[in-house]
Amino acid sequence: MGRSPPGIIASSPRFYSVSGLDIVKELYGLFREERARHQRERGVVWVTDLVSCSLKPVFSLEYEELALSEFFSPPLVLGTLVHRGLEALLSQVLAAKQYRVEVEPERSLEVSVDDAKYTLKGRADLVVTTPEGARIGVEIKTLRGDAALPLEHHVDQARIYNLLFDLEKSYLVYISPERLAQYEVGDRMGLDEVASRIREPRAPRYTWECRYCPFSVICPSKVAKA
Ligand code: SF4
Repeated sequence: MGRSPPGIIASSPRFYSVSGLDIVKELYGLFREERARHQRERGVVWVTDLVSCSLKPVFSLEYEELALSEFFSPPLVLGTLVHRGLEALLSQVLAAKQYRVEVEPERSLEVSVDDAKYTLKGRADLVVTTPEGARIGVEIKTLRGDAALPLEHHVDQARIYNLLFDLEKSYLVYISPERLAQYEVGDRMGLDEVASRIREPRAPRYTWECRYCPFSVICPSKVAKA
């Protein structure tokens, strides 16, 4: 078993009462509260549902505990911390240049699909209004390695945000250990395409999704070795 360097005490539950400060536990509590605030509702479709596997929202309502395995994974925690840090920094920098910045604004839109009505909901990372009045979205994306950017599902997500938030355009900002790059998405998804994505579910939407999916252990549509 590995030993800690001299003078360093590896934290374990028996030490908590000594120091009274447990950062991991604080972060866990924060993520748990956020998760509780964003529970799924029937009849509500999130923008992310339209750019990923259509079975995941169904499974997350029916097999909630399986989804829990993801909510405090280190990559997700890291991504959230980068988001929060960059959102705060950009808000500060852009506000000083007379831009109005909305952080994680939420919007919804009624969508008719045949005889049914759905609520499309989305939460952008940032919506920036320039001094001239143009509204621009900013979506922050973290990657573990490099890839051919921008990724198709991120472009589609930005196209839907352009519709939902009435944006002139959005910028996808990628941050990885190897690259920091920005891409502009000026196209706006039409309501007809939103309706057809709701009407025609796809499971998976991309074969690589199954590799990272917490529901793969019970999923009949799983694509193995994608
Ligand atoms: S295993 Fe694949 S098809 Fe099944 S829910 Fe997950 S992503 Fe969708």
